[in-house]
Amino acid sequence: MEQTESTNEVVVDTTELPALTAADRCDICGAQAFIRVVLATGDLVFCGHHGTANKDKLKPIAISWQDETNKLN
Ligand SMILES: [Zn+2]
Repeated sequence: MEQTESTNEVVVDTTELPALTAADRCDICGAQAFIRVVLATGDLVFCGHHGTANKDKLKPIAISWQDETNKLN
């Protein structure tokens, strides 16, 4: 009874993070996400604005900080 479809499992291997897509939505405002923060408890995704807004708070505890805001241009 295992469903492998779109599980949110994060393999804690910081070199193998999948790229963010249009389906990834900011956990705060629902805009397209460009930043993924991998924490010990799971991952969060943020738009460029909220990623920046939470960076000071989350970066120190993040296992990985994936920033794709360069895609915004
Ligand atoms: Zn946002």
